[in-house]
Amino acid sequence: PPPGSPDSVIARAVSPWPIHDVAARLGIEASRLLPFGHDKAKLPHDFTDELAERPQGKLVLVTAITPTPAGEGKTTTTVGLGDGLSRIGQRAAICLREPSLGPCFGMKGGAAGGGRSQVIPMEDINLHFTGDFHAISSAHNLLAAQIDNHLYWGNALDLDPERITWKRTMDMNDRALRQLIVGEGGQGVPRRDGFDITAASEIMAILCLARDLDDLQWRLGEIVVARTRDGAPVRARDLEVQGAMAVLLKQALAPNLVQTLEHTPAFVHGGPFANIAHGCNSVMATRSALALADVVVTEAGFGADLGAEKFFNIKCRQAGLSPSAVVVVATLRALKMHGGIAREALGQPDPEAVRRGAANLARHVANLQGAGVPLVVAINQFDQDSSEEHAVLREACDAMGVEVVLSRHWQEGSAGSEELAERVMALLDGATPEPRLSYADDAGLADKLRAIATQHYGAADIQLEERAQHQLEEYEALGYGHLPVCIAKTPYSFAADPEMGGLAAGHVLPIRELELAAGAGFVVALCGTIMRMPGMPERPASAGMGLDAAGEIEGLS
Ligand code: ADP
Ligand code: MG
Repeated sequence: PPPGSPDSVIARAVSPWPIHDVAARLGIEASRLLPFGHDKAKLPHDFTDELAERPQGKLVLVTAITPTPAGEGKTTTTVGLGDGLSRIGQRAAICLREPSLGPCFGMKGGAAGGGRSQVIPMEDINLHFTGDFHAISSAHNLLAAQIDNHLYWGNALDLDPERITWKRTMDMNDRALRQLIVGEGGQGVPRRDGFDITAASEIMAILCLARDLDDLQWRLGEIVVARTRDGAPVRARDLEVQGAMAVLLKQALAPNLVQTLEHTPAFVHGGPFANIAHGCNSVMATRSALALADVVVTEAGFGADLGAEKFFNIKCRQAGLSPSAVVVVATLRALKMHGGIAREALGQPDPEAVRRGAANLARHVANLQGAGVPLVVAINQFDQDSSEEHAVLREACDAMGVEVVLSRHWQEGSAGSEELAERVMALLDGATPEPRLSYADDAGLADKLRAIATQHYGAADIQLEERAQHQLEEYEALGYGHLPVCIAKTPYSFAADPEMGGLAAGHVLPIRELELAAGAGFVVALCGTIMRMPGMPERPASAGMGLDAAGEIEGLS
């Protein structure tokens, strides 16, 4: 396909390798795969159990500057770097999150990369794939159904119907389901309820943090779903439902294997939000990939303040992972937006705006340097970029004391990311440092929140609103004070208000409310308005989709 062809045209021009040939690149015998058709497979649990004993390869985290509507390209860079590493002879694999149907039909489009850096089969991955999201929704709703059933049969546990925190879930953007009354018309106990999108379910976070089936089942039992009328927490295990949920999730916990356009093995597994959850693919996939490949590249959601922070303080902390290098993706377009340029004007070269916007990159770089892991900045090149603007960004990176590489993976695939791959390999040369986490397990919850706000967001302090303060005291009294914190705030600013933009500093972070995710193993702190069930725009992406005369899918990207 000619340069600039739609993603779907580029993807269709590539014949996927049979999945056992992709697996063979990682030394996996075909008999160890659980195939889903010709080009998808899961790694079954007996195999991942064996893999847990093997030595681990090196892990590279891909993160980014503060996102803007102009796009940054973490997924494409992850794919491009994986292909670049394969090209220079490394046994490489990538790990990505699974796309959600919500954004696919709503606004954002698919999440399987773009240009010559995509994972395939793109359509399957963006749609039902191997059914993991379906399994997660089912397990989530089984628990919800048990709660209302418990109320119906006399409420022996004395659940307070006003204090049931477990909602229902569906993998679709549907704002009409945000708030509703269930149990009307004599069909059970009427109470207020609502739906979250599946990516926002605690089950999604649990699936992504569980080390194995045992851990999965244990975490499911720990979920706190309600309070009794006396205020005591009610867990899923009190309803005796964790076993059935684990049954529903057994196959979903097995990592999915697919491939990039250049046939690099790609684990695409789990897809939690990066605000109310930790925003990374599953620990099962990451650890399995590390046991099979010498270098594994993975992506964390949103900008580094949300995604990378949680990758370190939640995922690495819980799973004992130590990344060996970090790639920070930046685009001139996004930096110009941080430098005050409107989206419509991004076509004009504006080196001064790049210089101003580079302050956003500098903040993220400094934060990541704090983790003690070697890093490199990757400029994800867009066709409109000018060389003077690149020069300005290089200068800015020199001043930050960080290496910078131009990457053209989107345009050229691995031919365009070879240099990035070489630079990353150079960073992997030394011994992997223990990451410096932002706080110790035994620090108080308020100190943990303050550590993130001041170290990562450049805030002067946090402000716990009264409700959050009460919850904090309660969680600590209940024995949850040792958990890491997961701050849910806008990705568009270091502050809680998206309008404050990518250079906000010295602000006070207002914490409205806390939520316990005892199964996932973190305490969520809500700052500003956080969407758990998105809506669709007036003309959603679904409006352009259909099947052509040959039965091929059109309009999905
Ligand atoms: P992220 O993972 O940071 O959300 P993606 O890698 O998914 O970003 O990219 C977002 C969108 O931008 C995708 O549609 C992708 O195809 C597009 N994109 C990424 N990099 C480039 C580039 N260098 N040139 C043109 N489009 C790009
Ligand atoms: Mg992405």
